[in-house]
Amino acid sequence: MTDFTGKTGLIVGIANKRSIVWAIAQATVSRGARVALTYQGRFEENVQELSAGLATPPLVLPCDVTSDSEIDAVFSRVEQEFGGLDFVVHGAAFARKEELSEPFANTSREGFRLAMDISAYSLIALARGATPLMEKRGGGSIVTLTYLGSERVFPNYNVMGVAKAALEANVRYLAADLGPKNIRVNAISAGPIKTISAMGIGGFSSILNVYRERAPLRRNVETGEVGEAAAFLLSDASKAITGEILMVDAGFHVSGM
Ligand code: NAD
Repeated sequence: MTDFTGKTGLIVGIANKRSIVWAIAQATVSRGARVALTYQGRFEENVQELSAGLATPPLVLPCDVTSDSEIDAVFSRVEQEFGGLDFVVHGAAFARKEELSEPFANTSREGFRLAMDISAYSLIALARGATPLMEKRGGGSIVTLTYLGSERVFPNYNVMGVAKAALEANVRYLAADLGPKNIRVNAISAGPIKTISAMGIGGFSSILNVYRERAPLRRNVETGEVGEAAAFLLSDASKAITGEILMVDAGFHVSGM
């Protein structure tokens, strides 16, 4: 049921080999998927290098999610190459350094706008672009990545927590909107993982330590484990699941203290 033979996907948000969505690319390509990987300008070289290690060579395209024309160009190219699309992975997120280190009450209007645009709105833009291509395949699956900071306060997560709350609401509204076209929209709420983005959050390693002490499994999660959970949500094994936020966090979210 998690076979991806004949399936095509678009994967947005790889920066380097530690990126969570890189693990999702590996999990789906190793099961037979053909994918397009996008990069944000400065990560082109990394993504080109990583893509050379995949069993099926991916299409590698630029995409800054703040640009509607770049998003349009990605879907035109994907349509040309693949003719349709079975899944989309959204892993783009950004907040300015000052918004992730200063008191939350100091969040600037521009910092708020930018975090929301890149980390939440972009899912809507990608889902809209993917819809006609997924309709050609009789449906599809979209997965994004979120964090528990959407519901609870973590030190310095700040505006990113607000953006993740919006992202999770986007998942539910998109699931309702696109469900009649058999397009499913879900999120994985991953436990903390040391990636470039995570290292931008002031005091991130103390969050890793708390998870290690208090999560039921007494450990942190690995990108490969998120990759496997994503493969489930992107595959036919989850075909009755939509609008869901799947916790992949070693159980941390159930802890009262
Ligand atoms: P990462 O830094 O590897 O990935 C973030 C990606 O966002 C990068 O590839 C970056 O290029 C991309 N991005 C930023 N601005 C962009 C723009 N304007 N256009 C296109 N792409 C842009 O870090 P990651 O931790 O793998 O993050 C992937 C997703 O997982 C994010 O949504 C993040 O919030 C989420 N997440 C991370 C953790 C964690 O602890 N690392 C936990 C839960 C959820």
